[in-house]
Amino acid sequence: MELKRCNRCGCFYDSNLNICSNCEPKDNLEIAKLNNYIEKYGNSYSLDEISVSTGISLRNLNRYINDNGIDISL
Ligand SMILES: [Zn+2]
Repeated sequence: MELKRCNRCGCFYDSNLNICSNCEPKDNLEIAKLNNYIEKYGNSYSLDEISVSTGISLRNLNRYINDNGIDISL
């Protein structure tokens, strides 16, 4: 099995996930935060605003949206 590089921390790991097992709980936490935010405020905010409000980095926000098909009107 080929090693993959973690999208979040850059370490190499062996798994079918998009991120390593260290980062998985952090991702899940932030995705939950993002979903809560969208539920509460709707999806009409820009990524910048969401990033500031949730503390999630823009890079990670983009990744969650691409990976999870989260619907945000940009
Ligand atoms: Zn990682």
